[in-house]
Amino acid sequence: MARAWLSLGANLGDAPANLAEAVRRIGEADGVAVVAQSGMITTKPWGKTDQPDFLNLALEINTALEPLPLLDALQAIEAVMGRERLEHWGPRVIDIDIVAYERLEMDTARLTLPHRYAHERDFVLDPLREIAPAVTEWLTSRRR
Ligand code: ADP
Ligand code: MG
Repeated sequence: MARAWLSLGANLGDAPANLAEAVRRIGEADGVAVVAQSGMITTKPWGKTDQPDFLNLALEINTALEPLPLLDALQAIEAVMGRERLEHWGPRVIDIDIVAYERLEMDTARLTLPHRYAHERDFVLDPLREIAPAVTEWLTSRRR
């Protein structure tokens, strides 16, 4: 079993419902168990302001999956949720990123760990700090 931390974001459709559905699907995925969930935070969209606020949360999970199979499982959830809502709301109803997987460091075409931009994004760090202060500290200190 490995510990990993995810960042979820939504700004189309019913964003709180999308986040809740994604958390439920993640918890139901084979080889994945949700250990902790942060509160949701609202973020004003940057640049293009005529779009809905973003809603973000962080999850801590236990997983039997290696990093790439975990990414596959999360992208399958994004795809299912995107497809279901495509006609109504457009394609970007949910974003699920792997912020960190244990303290693993890897850089491949499909997966960079820890996430390349997590350390500089408050909408990732603020929810994560609630549930995993040590990981948050590790992310910010390694890039200083
Ligand atoms: P973004 O999350 O940057 O807004 P996408 O969700 O469309 O954009 O992801 C683009 C690609 O980023 C994915 O297809 C995936 O292969 C890659 N990727 C690299 N590192 C990670 C990571 N740590 N977590 C999630 N996706 C990642
Ligand atoms: Mg993503």
